[in-house]
Formats: sequence, C-alpha cells, structure tokens
Amino acid sequence: AMFGNLSDRLVEALGNLRAKGKLTPADVDGTVREIRRALLEADVALPVVKDFVTHVRERALSDDVNRALNPAQQVVQIVNDELVRILGGTESRQIAFAKQPPTVIMLVGLQGAGKTTLAGKLAKWFVGQKHSPMLVAADLQRPNAVTQLRIVGDQAGVPVFSPEPGNGVGDPVRVARESMRIARDKQHDIVIVDTAGRLGVDEALMKQAADIKAAVNPDEVFFVIDSMIGQDAVATAKAFHDGVGFTGAVLTKLDADTRGGAALSVAQTTGQPIMFASVGEKLDDFEVFHPDRMASRILNMGDVLTLIEQAQAAFDEAEAREAAEKLAKDQFTLNDFLKQMQQLRRAGNFKKMIGLMPGITKEAKAALDDFDESSLVRIEAIIQSMTPLEREMPKVLNGSRRARIARGSGTSVTEVNNLVKQFDQMSKMMRTMARGAMPGMPGMGPL
Ligand code: GDP
Repeated sequence: AMFGNLSDRLVEALGNLRAKGKLTPADVDGTVREIRRALLEADVALPVVKDFVTHVRERALSDDVNRALNPAQQVVQIVNDELVRILGGTESRQIAFAKQPPTVIMLVGLQGAGKTTLAGKLAKWFVGQKHSPMLVAADLQRPNAVTQLRIVGDQAGVPVFSPEPGNGVGDPVRVARESMRIARDKQHDIVIVDTAGRLGVDEALMKQAADIKAAVNPDEVFFVIDSMIGQDAVATAKAFHDGVGFTGAVLTKLDADTRGGAALSVAQTTGQPIMFASVGEKLDDFEVFHPDRMASRILNMGDVLTLIEQAQAAFDEAEAREAAEKLAKDQFTLNDFLKQMQQLRRAGNFKKMIGLMPGITKEAKAALDDFDESSLVRIEAIIQSMTPLEREMPKVLNGSRRARIARGSGTSVTEVNNLVKQFDQMSKMMRTMARGAMPGMPGMGPL
C-alpha cells in the first residue's frame, strides 16, 4: 500500500502513547525517537526529518498538550499537522492559467519518471474541464518518445504536435517554439510540452530544458519525479530546481509500494508545492495532490484515533490491575480469563490492539501474526460451557467433564485440553511477570 511501512511505524509510535493521562518528557522523547526512525527508514531527507521532529517535540511538550483531556490524541494531531506542513500546507495551489491563452505547461524530469504518461493524464484531465489542450513532443532524444506521446494523445483525444517522422533528429527548441504558433492558430488554450529526460542529471539535459523554457515561456514548469527513487529525490529535485527552475512537482508511481521519502522531502526542500499525484499506468490514475488528505492517509488518522479510543475503553485500568493482582496471588481463574477475552473481542481489531499495548515485545507480536482471531470465539464457547466450579478450579476437570464441555461448546476434547493446558502455562508465566500490564494474550498460541 501507499506508504504502508511508514504508516505502520507512525501508527505504532503514536499508539504507544495511548491511555496516558499525562505525557512526561520521557514519553514524548520516546515517541519522537520512533517517529524519527520511521521517517529515516522511509528515505525522508535528513534535514526534513530533523525539522519535523523538532517541531513535534516542541509542540508535544507544550502546556496546551498536557492540559488537554487526552494528550495522546493531541500528539497524533500535531504529527498530522506537521505532515501536512512538510507536504506543502493546507492550501492546494491552483494551476496558474495565463491571462492570454494558451497556458503553457512544461514537464521536466529524469527519463522514466513518467513525464510522457503524465502529459496524457493532464491532457485528459483538462479535457474533462472543457479545456482544449495540445501536446507537444519536445523529447526527441528517446527513439519512441514521439510515438508514445502520440499514443497517449490519442487515448486522451487531444492532438499531438511533433516533428515529421523521418526527418532525422529534430531540434526540440525549434519544435517547442513552433508549437506555440500552432496552438494559437488552432485555438488551443493549453499547451503541454513533454521534454527529454536522461538517466541522470547532466548539464546538456539542463541546458536543453532551460532553452525550451526560454523559447516557450511557460506558465508552469512541473518537475516530474518517480516516488520510488528514495534518497536521490532531494538531489534530483535540487538539480532541476537550480538548473531549470520549476513551479510545482508531480509525484508519480505512488501506487507502487513506495517508502514515501520523495513525497515527504520534495516540497520542503525546494519550496515548491506538489501539484498532482500519478497513481498508475492508465490515464485516469491521476489525482490532484492534497497535502492534508495525503497526511491522513499516511497516518491512518481515523485508525489511530479510533484505536486510541478503543484501547482506552477496552483496557479498563482498574480491571487490569485487579486481574494482575489475582494472577500474582494465584487467584486468576478461567472466569477472569473469559472476562479479559470478552473485553478484547468487544474492542475489535484484536491484533492491532495488542500491538499497541505498551511494552509488548517483538516476539509476542510475531506470535500474534499466527494467531487466528476466530479461535477467541471457540475459547469463549469452551469456558461458557463450564460450571462455575470448573471455571474457578480447573483441576477438577476430569475426562468426563472435558467430554461434556466439548459437546456443549461444539468443540473437541483436544481443544478443551489445549485451552486448559495453555491457561495453566499462562497463569504460571504471568505470575512471574510482576507487571500491571494486560494479562493474558501474548504468550498464547492458537488452540
Ligand atoms: P518518461 O521517460 O518520463 O516520459 O516516463 P514514461 O511516461 O515513459 O514512464 C515510464 C514508465 O513508468 C512507463 O512504463 C509508464 O507506464 C510507467 N508509469 C508512469 N507513471 C506511472 C504511475 O503513476 N504508476 C505506475 N505504476 N507506472 C507509471
């Protein structure tokens, strides 16, 4: 999924703050450290990361946050705000249309970034808004670039201006200049100029792009960048910014499993907004970029807030403490176990919730991945088929009692045996863990 890993990591970092009545500076520092690591792993540029965590820390430690009813939620909000900020702020910028048509939009970027595909997408999008765009093939470097632009032009239903085939290699600057005249003649109100890219940043490429820019005097220059290029994103963006100059960025291939670094670095390091996102190979796979929506997506905002609420509702602290005390005194019964189980099921999203519990180990989390939530239902059924005595004193469970319970719960004797055994092991294990955390689940395998 888009930013999948980054999302998971941020959600996890924030989830660890749940249910904290007050945040200590240590809580904030811990969370900030995790956020920092998550961003770096997602290939976000270091200066952007530094700036980001500095803001988050400052704001999270402010009095406002600590006075709030739920500090954890405040911190989620702060992280969301900061994501919006580095993605370019709350206002999406509109295209700067020329006072005198045509409005000229020039596309620059490395080879393979997705410029030609984007030209088709933009053209189709403009047609949908009752504009009359024309495409210009000023990429005469790549042998089939012109053909490819013709194909997307056909798909979008817009004309493509290109040098006659067979004339050898044309001069892209002349083609671009010529296209302006044609656009005026044919009354196209938008001209989209596709330019050549190279595999890497080089001077000839920059000069050609700059010359085309001088020839067509564009209203917008969009820097097209492949979101998958990771750490190189910043250097590439800077090179194009200094070498040609651009007015906006377009992120492509956001449909792929990108780490997100480019998206989160480009706006901040160049000071230019991200205008659009390309999310697939088809012409309709195209979106206007909204920093706030993207931030919510990265953060699973709805998810995090819901989880924090659910966790608070489910893990009633007093009950958890009572259960822990019982465990410590060896008074934890299958009845208590059933109660815990029902709480977990009520809360829904069991695995995620466990993942958000404070202090949960990596091993326990890995074990959870194998855990089948439907087995909770069977465990409940088994316990509910027991008499009060059996629940309080599992050692009375002889063969005939177990057979009766299996029949009553629609399970098998083996399942009943497993539950009793696991309960027994677990109570032993829990007794040794003299901690106030939620007892129960982590050590437990599937039935
Ligand atoms: P150009 O060299 O910059 O003109 O790049 P192209 O437009 O030729 O795109 C390079 C490759 O990336 C092509 O195979 C496109 O189909 C593919 N591509 C472009 N945009 C996207 C996108 O948003 N998602 C995916 N999955 N592929 C894309």
